[in-house]
Amino acid sequence: MINIIFLAPPAAGKGTQSDFLKQRYNIPHISTGELLREETKKGSEIGQKINEIMISGKLVSDDIVINLVKNRLSMPDTKEGYILDGFPRNINQAIALDKMLEELGKPINYVFYLTIDKDLALKRTCGRATCTNCGQIYNLKFPETMPSKPMTCDECGSPLFVRQDDNEETFLKRFDTYISETEPVSTYYKNKKLLFYVNSGINKDITFNQIISAIDVPEIK
Ligand code: ADP
Repeated sequence: MINIIFLAPPAAGKGTQSDFLKQRYNIPHISTGELLREETKKGSEIGQKINEIMISGKLVSDDIVINLVKNRLSMPDTKEGYILDGFPRNINQAIALDKMLEELGKPINYVFYLTIDKDLALKRTCGRATCTNCGQIYNLKFPETMPSKPMTCDECGSPLFVRQDDNEETFLKRFDTYISETEPVSTYYKNKKLLFYVNSGINKDITFNQIISAIDVPEIK
């Protein structure tokens, strides 16, 4: 089993690295941000509330997120492993996760902490655009990650969209929430000797190589 958690400030590249790992190890990428965005699309009252909270840069209530994760981790495709992106985001969620993983017999193997400067993360957030069809991520502020046709996916030709919370004002709130609520979770995993620091400020291939070199170390017999 390869059971992975990503811990990182907003726009550090959790989603990108999760997709790379999903392809390499054939395990599902579980993003709580995505699960919540799916809920908001249903147009229900609760979906609308979730949307408002996401735009405010605060955290959605633990009960809602913990239930979503519990259901998702109970699915059979997590048998060989999983990549959790965006969960846990506070200590209460970390404790709830430990409990559910013990019940499910799927303990965490690696917690990757992606480090990045706040200014660079802001720049990445404000230029981010995602394909509505295949999920490919672009950045309109960096020539190397721009689509060749404006707002159109190079991979499948579908239109791109910009997330409602990817603007400077919401980013700054998301960053503050990260520092006050999520950052302490790193100490929780450091004490459990599961934490790996990875530099996410250079480029995505360098980040990915650092991650897989931690996973693919040969066992010493
Ligand atoms: P990013 O990490 O780039 O900020 P995400 O897609 O992971 O983006 O999360 C977007 C928003 O979804 C968060 O700002 C928060 O409001 C909500 N969210 C995601 N995961 C959680 C979680 N584990 N607990 C509470 N809220 C969450």
